[in-house]
Amino acid sequence: FAVHLVSFLFTKLQEDPTKKVDRFLYAMRLHDDQLKDISARFQAEMKKGLSAESNAAAAVKMLPTHVRSTPDGTEKGQFVALDLGGSKFKVLQVKVREGMGIRRGGVEMEEKIYPIPKELLSGRGTELFDHVSESLKDFLHEKNISLEKKHPLAFTFSFPCEHSKLDQGLLVNWSKNYRVRGLQGKDVVKTLREAIDRTGGMNVEVLAMVNDTVATMMTCGFDDQYCDVGLIIGTGTNACYMEGLRNVDLVEGDEGRMCINTEWGGFGDDGALNDYITEFDREVDAASNNPGKQIFEKMVSGMYLGELVRLVVLKMAKRGKLFDGQVSDALRTTGKITTAHVAAMEQYKTGLNNTRDILTELDLNPSPDDCVAVQHISTIVSFRSSNLVAAGLAAILSRIKRNRNLRTLRITVGVDGTVYKTHPQYPKRLHKVVRRLLPECHVRFVLSDSGSSKGAALVTAVAQRLASLRQQ
Ligand code: BGC
Ligand code: MG
Repeated sequence: FAVHLVSFLFTKLQEDPTKKVDRFLYAMRLHDDQLKDISARFQAEMKKGLSAESNAAAAVKMLPTHVRSTPDGTEKGQFVALDLGGSKFKVLQVKVREGMGIRRGGVEMEEKIYPIPKELLSGRGTELFDHVSESLKDFLHEKNISLEKKHPLAFTFSFPCEHSKLDQGLLVNWSKNYRVRGLQGKDVVKTLREAIDRTGGMNVEVLAMVNDTVATMMTCGFDDQYCDVGLIIGTGTNACYMEGLRNVDLVEGDEGRMCINTEWGGFGDDGALNDYITEFDREVDAASNNPGKQIFEKMVSGMYLGELVRLVVLKMAKRGKLFDGQVSDALRTTGKITTAHVAAMEQYKTGLNNTRDILTELDLNPSPDDCVAVQHISTIVSFRSSNLVAAGLAAILSRIKRNRNLRTLRITVGVDGTVYKTHPQYPKRLHKVVRRLLPECHVRFVLSDSGSSKGAALVTAVAQRLASLRQQ
């Protein structure tokens, strides 16, 4: 009996369907030496982006944000906020109360989601911003926000902008699923103000525009003085952090700090990641809105994870390694596997059942082994994403540590984004790898829920606090 059991286990082991996936996807399974190499490459890119000589050609743009301070908890005020460029367009009312902290209701908000008609994503800039300002007007009306006094407005805009001050920013390029015409190189704040004037009947003043990473860092920073990094893993991905101004060539002055929007999604656009790019990454890139751009983002973020999984499954099926070689029209169709599917397939208890349901929905006829294999594909793709984010984050954190000349660094990272919030295993994996890559850092991760929406108001509140200090 024992012999039988052993030989049974042995054949079981040999047939483990995850093994053939491991072999097929070995290029996506990054070990720590590779992650350290990627981290070192990213450090070099950051340097390039910060320096005056190399900035113009840098793939990682390292954009100064003109945000010079994180909150100290004494900020207050009422703001109207817009959040454009994440998975949803939102209009909000944000109330900031002094000295209460986030969790005790120090930052309160009411929001309304305004769907953006798909045509607007590839239409003219003025049309998109007319929609934005009409939604704003609707919101002000619905919330009975009076016309009597001017309301400060804070704008989270989740695309790269070159700022010369808080309330001005030239759009560098679109990313994700936006390819709106006529705005590249234009001042987005001015565009918004003009649209608000065209719509009319509102009494608002646009005071600040910030990237979603910056907003996330600020929200988290309201009650954690150690929060000097903001991270988004959502439809797109990006990170920002507080840099010493002496290292920011593009902004005058050497004293104090400034938040830098890294725009790390562009890492690899100059070939720096070519050693790590797979045929599936190339395919995703070629079929995208912006071929050759946002290479790192396409390996990491929610807009692409499902598609990567689909391409791998399709290829393995065509090779006869899944479903007995069966392929369906649905499986051949772009976008049929989404990031929500990836999260469902990796759910703790229900993952395998979910995988079977998802594959059946795609008109496939999976065996139990096929389900295990496809679940494993999903795990490898999403794990690679968290590994790459960990490598980027490790580069930023060790840069901060070196800047401050510290042997150990204590720091908090504020995080927002649909992938981080909805994938069941993502946060845990990310934290673990970051801590392994940086044993000498005490990193705290704080989910900055809706941080990217609330935070623009906090940027404005901090700016008002600093302005009133200067007047005293
Ligand atoms: C944009 C960034 C943004 C990130 C997360 C990227 O595509 O370029 O500005 O922070 O997505 O939303
Ligand atoms: Mg400087």
